[in-house]
Amino acid sequence: MRKPKLREVVEAVKALIVGPVTTKFPFEPCQPPENFRGKPTFYQEDCIGCKACAEVCTTQCIDVYDDVTADPPNRKLVLRYDKCIFCGHCELNCTTQKGIRLGGGEYDLACFDRSTCVETVDNELVVCETCGAIVGARKHLLFVADRLGAKRYANPTLILTSEGDLGLTEAEGGRSEDKPLTREDLMRVTCPKCRRTLVLQELWGD
Ligand code: SF4
Ligand code: SF4
Repeated sequence: MRKPKLREVVEAVKALIVGPVTTKFPFEPCQPPENFRGKPTFYQEDCIGCKACAEVCTTQCIDVYDDVTADPPNRKLVLRYDKCIFCGHCELNCTTQKGIRLGGGEYDLACFDRSTCVETVDNELVVCETCGAIVGARKHLLFVADRLGAKRYANPTLILTSEGDLGLTEAEGGRSEDKPLTREDLMRVTCPKCRRTLVLQELWGD
């Protein structure tokens, strides 16, 4: 029989004195180390609905559901943490750096029904006043306007969204959908496609 090495004997004696180093989980809760990547959690107050996390997600476990028929139009992000590999890319690339975090230390995620393993966040959408296409999440537009400062006044969509948030402009333009795009539509909340058409019309005519 092979004789144990001295180092192994020392380890065995130490283990007898110190006791087991393994945790007693699940019989006793385990204290995760600092910076442990646990369950990804959305934070409603810091999420602006930009969906950057969904675009970078390694396993594509964050789905985006836009509902323009809701009042107000809504974007729901649904994270299936049963498909998550806890890589942390969503947190790393979060536009606000605080909208989604894995640092809560929640690790006991076992369940009987995987469809319950979801984490969601909702944000109001802004839609184009001329064609109804999605422009972006309201909080995202406000975030961009805030970052741009005075430069936001170069973009009517940002002006109207941020001033509207202050109650300085009307939310409804009252425009008929059948009406062709005209110069007055320049001062409306519009999607990039309609704005491009309007600017080209303004520069080059019909
Ligand atoms: S931790 Fe990775 S896999 Fe999990 S939601 Fe974030 S990006 Fe996706
Ligand atoms: S703010 Fe962060 S958590 Fe919210 S949608 Fe954007 S990237 Fe995702």
